[in-house]
Amino acid sequence: MFWADKIADEIERRYADKISAGKPIVVRDEKTPSGKVHVGSLRSAALHAIVADVLKDRGHKVEFYFEINDFDPMDGIPSYLDESDYLKYMGYTLLNIPSPVEGYENFAEYYGQEYVDVVGSIGFGAQVYRASELYYGGLMNEAIRSVLDKRETVVKIYKEVSGSEKSADWYPLNVICEKCGNLSATRIVDWDGEMVSYQCSSDTIDWAEGCGHEGKVSPFDGNASLPWKPEWAAKFMVKKVNFEGGGKDHYTKGGSRQVAEAISRQVFENEPPYGVFNEFFLIGGKKMSSSKGNAAGAKEMTELLPPHILRLLLLKTPINRQLDFNPEGDAVPVLFDTYDRLAAKVWEGIVDDDSQVFKFSHLPSERAAMHERFLPRFSQIAFFVQMPHMNVEEEVEKMKGKALTEEDKKEIGLRVTYAKRWLDKYADGKFIFTLQDSVPEVASSLSEVQTDALNLLAEKISVVTEMDGQSLHEIIHEVKEESGLSPKEFFSAMYTVFLGKEFGPKIGWFLSTFDKDFVVKRLRREA
Ligand SMILES: [Zn+2]
Repeated sequence: MFWADKIADEIERRYADKISAGKPIVVRDEKTPSGKVHVGSLRSAALHAIVADVLKDRGHKVEFYFEINDFDPMDGIPSYLDESDYLKYMGYTLLNIPSPVEGYENFAEYYGQEYVDVVGSIGFGAQVYRASELYYGGLMNEAIRSVLDKRETVVKIYKEVSGSEKSADWYPLNVICEKCGNLSATRIVDWDGEMVSYQCSSDTIDWAEGCGHEGKVSPFDGNASLPWKPEWAAKFMVKKVNFEGGGKDHYTKGGSRQVAEAISRQVFENEPPYGVFNEFFLIGGKKMSSSKGNAAGAKEMTELLPPHILRLLLLKTPINRQLDFNPEGDAVPVLFDTYDRLAAKVWEGIVDDDSQVFKFSHLPSERAAMHERFLPRFSQIAFFVQMPHMNVEEEVEKMKGKALTEEDKKEIGLRVTYAKRWLDKYADGKFIFTLQDSVPEVASSLSEVQTDALNLLAEKISVVTEMDGQSLHEIIHEVKEESGLSPKEFFSAMYTVFLGKEFGPKIGWFLSTFDKDFVVKRLRREA
């Protein structure tokens, strides 16, 4: 079964009462905008967006929220930013740090917007809100009061669930220093039921500088922020969440999910939402050179693949299995081939798990228009675009054997665009072909038997009346037999004189794309 259908089934089972009462199912996801969006976050985005999408497709009411957690403190500086510019902001909430690029309100807005744009471009958009809205709007007040009142319970949960020892005087809350604005450097020392007393000190935590201020302030309405685990539990309650998963790293035994669930039940008396983990998204090997594209960035991935193909990549592997993708190898052509295979099945009328994957690979807005069209293989398009003498549409028309429709032409245009991007930024040398302007240097190392075979082939081709792929294919095989060469020795000789490489596309078809005179001369190494 398609993984998102399985999750949707479980949601229907758990929330049957809510659904039959006509109430919406609430799906929530969040991201801390602490830097550029890594490709890994697309998996969490896919988990929530596709589950929301499947539920809607089943006719349920769904509220899908995405939170930009701008109230989190900066606890590390991304390697691509100048450390000296940001060191002074360690421990400050991300919305109180300047944007690295002008034109954005703050650090959180800049990176949050990048995420929203990326997921929006592949149709994973949700209703966006910011964590600061929950705090400033007073929606977190009840949760803040609960953790302060029941801090012994919170401490006990940390110890029992995760084995983490908190000192007896620890409060599960961080105040924003009224003097310097730091969040991580403060430590609460007392709670009188209305106000918290705190100290801001460099001794609180290694990586944040305090100012030495001591104060007393209300912990409500945005003056303080909950640590990550109690905060997660608080958001389950505040947003009335029914489905929320997270990365595998949060789902370990004693990990943040288990702590958050225990706090949810024991401190907030709220049943936590259903959730599953998403596995990691790996970019094959570490060999990617910096001069090439950086597919580890989610934005770069949206430039490498069109939306429906990127969605297919995210959907076809079960969410609880690792996804490994290497754009330098044959992963991109293989992914397009997978799309073509699913399309062929769907257009034949086959309904199964693959047809669900195919359907949801398309943006909701495109789904009704998944028209049948001719799908030329991506690897072939990638070859065509490198051959200056070829007209891609004409070649595809030959492959199709019928006139191209407007839909076919649109598809060709799309594949040409993405093939060029792939070749330009990622594709390994084995996918790169250059038609040699003249007989390449390497041809001089061909053996006499090989050059005899090329001459014989030239002679036979010089008398054909039509340069079509099939008749050339037959002639080539005759000559191969007569030459006594191994297939590798024979074919590599032909590829060498045209492409300067020992391999290439189907040779009969390839030769058919040229003028006869040129082919004859090149085989004779005369031009
Ligand atoms: Zn301070």
